[in-house]
Amino acid sequence: GAASSGGLVAYADSNSDDVVGKPQGPPKKKIVVLGTGWGGTTFLRNLDSRLYDVQVISPRNYFAFTPLLPSVTCGTVEPRSVVEPIRRILEKKGGDIKFWEAECFKIDSANKKIHCRSNIGTNLDGNGEFLVDYDYLVIAVGARSNTFNTPGVEENCFFLKEVEDAQKIRRNVMDCFERASLPYLDEEERKKNLHFVVVGGGPTGVEFAAELHDFVTEDLSKLYPSIQHLVKISLIEAADHILTMFDKRITEFAEDKFGRDGIDVKTGYKVVKVAKDAITMQNPATGDIAVPYGMAVWSTGIGTRPFISEFMKQIGQGKRRVLATDEWLRVRECDGVYAVGDCATINQRRVMDDISEIFRVADKDNSGTLTVKEIQDVLDDIYVRYPQVELYLKSRQMNGIADLVRTAKGDAEKESVELNIEEFKKALSLVDSQVKNLPATAQVASQQGQYLARCFNKMKDAEENPEGPIRIRGEGRHRFRPFRYRHLGQFAPLGGEQTAAQLPGDWISIGHSTQWLWYSVYATKQISWRTRALVISDWSRRFIFGRDSSC
Ligand code: FAD
Ligand code: MG
Ligand code: MG
Ligand code: MG
Ligand code: MG
Repeated sequence: GAASSGGLVAYADSNSDDVVGKPQGPPKKKIVVLGTGWGGTTFLRNLDSRLYDVQVISPRNYFAFTPLLPSVTCGTVEPRSVVEPIRRILEKKGGDIKFWEAECFKIDSANKKIHCRSNIGTNLDGNGEFLVDYDYLVIAVGARSNTFNTPGVEENCFFLKEVEDAQKIRRNVMDCFERASLPYLDEEERKKNLHFVVVGGGPTGVEFAAELHDFVTEDLSKLYPSIQHLVKISLIEAADHILTMFDKRITEFAEDKFGRDGIDVKTGYKVVKVAKDAITMQNPATGDIAVPYGMAVWSTGIGTRPFISEFMKQIGQGKRRVLATDEWLRVRECDGVYAVGDCATINQRRVMDDISEIFRVADKDNSGTLTVKEIQDVLDDIYVRYPQVELYLKSRQMNGIADLVRTAKGDAEKESVELNIEEFKKALSLVDSQVKNLPATAQVASQQGQYLARCFNKMKDAEENPEGPIRIRGEGRHRFRPFRYRHLGQFAPLGGEQTAAQLPGDWISIGHSTQWLWYSVYATKQISWRTRALVISDWSRRFIFGRDSSC
C-alpha cells in the first residue's frame, strides 16, 4: 500500500496519469465522496474517474441493497446476498479511486477539509483521526432512524436501517419463539414473548409485518405447533391509515388483507413510551394504554445525522430540519459542496420570487404586456427551471399556457389576449403550491447520484463554455439543466406472494402477478451478477425448502 512504499512513491502513485510519457496537465481536482449507499455508489459508478482524483469515505466498506432488507429479517434472503463490497465496485471501474473505511465527523467548508475517524485502527496520536482535503465534496451519508425522542425507544426497540439491524431482528425473532417454548413459562408469559409490535405504517414497517406474518404462518407454525396460536403481530400507526404515500386503493387493500391475516392494525395510535416489557400508546378516545410485548421494531421515519446538523449550523442553515441544496444539488452557502439522497432536500426556487424577472425576460418587445406567443417562447425554459408550472397545468387539466392566459383573463377571449404584470402574477399565483419534497427513497438518491456524476463529467467542458442552454434568470446562466426526478413507480409487498404497485400515471396493480413483477424488477436492479445470482437462489431455496429458523 501507499504507506509502506514511502511518501514519494505514494505521491507518484496517486497521480499515476502524470508520471511518465504523458503531457503534464494541471493536477486533477479532488473529489471526496462521503457514503457508499445508494447516492454515493451511483455517483461513483457513473463518474468518469479519469478526470478527477477521487476518494471515498464510509464507515461501511460495502453497498447495501436496502429494498431487500425486510426480506433479510426473516431469512427469505441471506445478508450476504444484499451487499456488494465497495472495493469490488471501484475495481470494476478500473480507475484508481481510493477508499477509506472511516466516518466523517466534521465538515470544515471554510478550509475545504473534512475530519474523519477510523474505528478499526489508531494513528500515532492513538485516536484514528485524520484530515482530508477536497475541491469538491459529495455528501451522501443518508439519514438515521428517528425516535422523535420517545422515551425508551433507543434502549428497547429494534430498528431496520442497516444490514446488521436486519440480522439482529432475525436472531431476536427466533429468540422470542425459543423463549416462549421454555418449560417454565405460564401462558401469559408465552403470549407476551410472542407479541410482535411494529411501530410505523410506512412501506418499511408494513413490509416487515407482512414478511414476519409469512414466516410465522408458512414456516414457524410447523416447528412450534404448541405455541403458534399465541403469536400476535400488531402494527401501530399514528395517522388514520397505513401506507399513506400510496393511492387509496392500495391502502384499503393492505388494511383489508392485514385484517384477514390477523395482523392487528392500530391506526390513530401514537406510541409515547417503550418500557422493557410494555409499550404505551395513546389515542384521544382511549387515553394511554400499556401493552405487553416480546419484541418491538421502530420504523417511523428518518432524521438528520448529528454531524450534518452541526455543519448546517456553521453555514447558516441551523433553523432547517434537513440540509438544503439548490436544484443543481449544490449546498449554496459553501463552494464545491454537493449533497444527494436522504441527507438532503432540494429547495425548489419559487416562481413568485422571480415573477418580475420572468416577465421582463419574456417580454421581448418591451411592450409591458405578454402575448401567448411571448409566453410560449420561454415556456420550455420555465418548465425546466420551475417544474411546478408543468405539474400545475397538468393538475388543472389545462392544455398548455393559452388556457392559463384565458383563465387569468376570466373569459374565453381569442388568441389575441395579452397579460400585464399584475395579470401574469395572478395567472401563476397558485403554481408554487405544486412544489413538493422528494421522498427519501433509493430511487431519488440514485437518480441524484447519476445526475451529479454526469454534471461532473461535463464540468470541464462547461468551465470553458459556460453559456448554457437555460436562460431563465434569477440564478445566472447555467450549463446544466437542474436535477429532475422521474418517478418510476413504487412497490408495497404485502405478504402471501401479493404485492401492490403504483406505477407512473397512477397505474395501480395489486396481487400475485404484481409479486412476479416485483421479483423481476428487484432481480434486474441488483448491482452485480454475483448478488443477482445469490438473491435468485435465495428465493428459489425459500420456495423449495422454506425459510431457515436456526439462529
Ligand atoms: P444510504 O443508502 O443510507 O447511504 C448512506 C451511506 O453513508 C452509508 O454507506 C453509510 O455507511 C454512510 N455514512 C453514514 N454516516 C457516515 C459518515 N459520518 N461519514 C461517511 N459516511 C457515512 N427505497 C426505495 O426506493 N425502494 C425501496 O423498496 C426501499 N426499501 C427500503 C427498505 C428499508 C428497510 C430501508 C431502511 C430503506 C428503504 N428504502 C427504499 C430507502 C432507501 O434505502 C434510501 O432512501 C436510500 O438508501 C438513500 O440513499 P443515501 O445514499 O442517501 O443513503
Ligand atoms: Mg450514499
Ligand atoms: Mg444503501
Ligand atoms: Mg433527499
Ligand atoms: Mg410584449
